[in-house]
Amino acid sequence: MRKYCEECGKEVETKIVIKKETYDVCGEEVEVDAQVLVCVGWKSFLRGTG
Ligand SMILES: [Zn+2]
Repeated sequence: MRKYCEECGKEVETKIVIKKETYDVCGEEVEVDAQVLVCVGWKSFLRGTG
């Protein structure tokens, strides 16, 4: 979907990637799948997540 990207300073094609995030809830670690909207130009970011 097309969204405005602050990095590019224009409207670009974006996609949603699932990123694992760990939260501390009452002393317990809870892992959740966070949906992150990224610009398709962020190739290095996508590679970085493995
Ligand atoms: Zn961008």
